[in-house]
Amino acid sequence: MPDPADHTGHTGHTGRTGLSVPELLDLDRRHVWHPYGPMPGRQEPLVVESASGVRLRLAGGGELVDGMSSWWSAIHGYNHPVLNDAVRGQLDRMSHVMFGGLTHEPAVRLAKHLVDMSPQGLEHVFLADSGSVSVEVAVKMCLQHWRSLGRPAKRRMLTWRGGYHGDTWQPMSVCDPEGGMHELWQGVLPRQVFVDAPPAGYEAYDDAYADHLREMIGRHADELAGVIVEPVVQGAGGMRFHSPAYLRVLREACDEHDVLLVFDEIATGFGRTGALFGADHAGVTPDVMCLGKALTGGYLTLAATLCTSRVADGISRGEVPVLAHGPTFMGNPLAAAVACASIELLLGQDWQIEVKRIEAGLRGTLAEAAGLPGVRDVRVLGAIGVVQLDHDVDMAAATRAATREGVWVRPFRDLIYTMPPFITSDDDVARIGRAVCAAAKEG
Ligand SMILES: *Cc1c(COP(=O)(O)O)cnc(C)c1O
Repeated sequence: MPDPADHTGHTGHTGRTGLSVPELLDLDRRHVWHPYGPMPGRQEPLVVESASGVRLRLAGGGELVDGMSSWWSAIHGYNHPVLNDAVRGQLDRMSHVMFGGLTHEPAVRLAKHLVDMSPQGLEHVFLADSGSVSVEVAVKMCLQHWRSLGRPAKRRMLTWRGGYHGDTWQPMSVCDPEGGMHELWQGVLPRQVFVDAPPAGYEAYDDAYADHLREMIGRHADELAGVIVEPVVQGAGGMRFHSPAYLRVLREACDEHDVLLVFDEIATGFGRTGALFGADHAGVTPDVMCLGKALTGGYLTLAATLCTSRVADGISRGEVPVLAHGPTFMGNPLAAAVACASIELLLGQDWQIEVKRIEAGLRGTLAEAAGLPGVRDVRVLGAIGVVQLDHDVDMAAATRAATREGVWVRPFRDLIYTMPPFITSDDDVARIGRAVCAAAKEG
């Protein structure tokens, strides 16, 4: 047995356990699934030993500026003293207690924070363990609301194409059915109603498309429990931006036809797009809203489903007057405590200025990519930068090019994109931009 107290951090070993890097990679390849990966793994992952600020420190030396915020999460960077203290302080009190019949201050404070900062009218908070589960809960809320009101035929969801809402069953059913990662499950998943993807571009507004949305919601109203979309930015479904005006169209059409509106803000929440939430670009309150990813500043897995009193009342007046969902680790105190600290850290600073600064930096450095052969589009919104190629990215070549520039990015499909932590310095934003351009050239 390796001695767990052995903190040898010397080259070739991965720190605490004394496993050499080749040993660790061999075990990893043989035993450990990675996201969207085959078994055994085919591409060798990088081994991260520690991380602080915006830098990932690799086993065997070397460090990379993180252009991904660990998938939209680590908005304040890694190893943040305030967030570390929040976890440590909570750890000394209790790391977890069940949430059935018990409650605690971290969860209550977090719920109050979320109600206060989210669009007016969202009053109630269900804490879940991951984004996908929060979407399951959102869909369950919609279906149960109508069932409780005696309208069980309203049991389908409508969404626009190009979306991504997670990997469990209901979320998969509202992911893009063709271009998405879940085409394998066509015919097995619940059949939802799909409308065309919104026209691309934050500034682009098309009356005909708005009419299409209204028409489809009206046509399917009798069977629709809700409409679910990612507001303003479609993330893992293709990193596309659209006009906030469509969110107002959805709000009006949903109100007119007795359909609930769900915003999946798991990627867009907490300032990433330049507004605190995607909904704020449009001044719209959804009936249900999902939060995750940056909720804990990237420290622990936690998500939340918020709803209005109208939705809660509907559910609570039904024949089964409860929301039948209760994850074992619901409201985990460690996660809730660090989420409170992350939110206080965000709101306690002029985060808009930081996001604007990163936006300007990305616009500046990514402009070069627009002229490269093989580049179809370059777009930036808030602290999100995207280079879209006219072919699928050669992952190995793109990753090599970016790491050579000292940057970690993780392209997918035809997209090389970045959403840096909000604390990223101007120099590091420029470095990320150079790396994305290099990846676009070689990928
Ligand atoms: C990442 C993501 C999810 C899924 O969240 P997990 O925590 O990975 O389950 C759902 N919706 C959107 C918009 C996301 O970006």
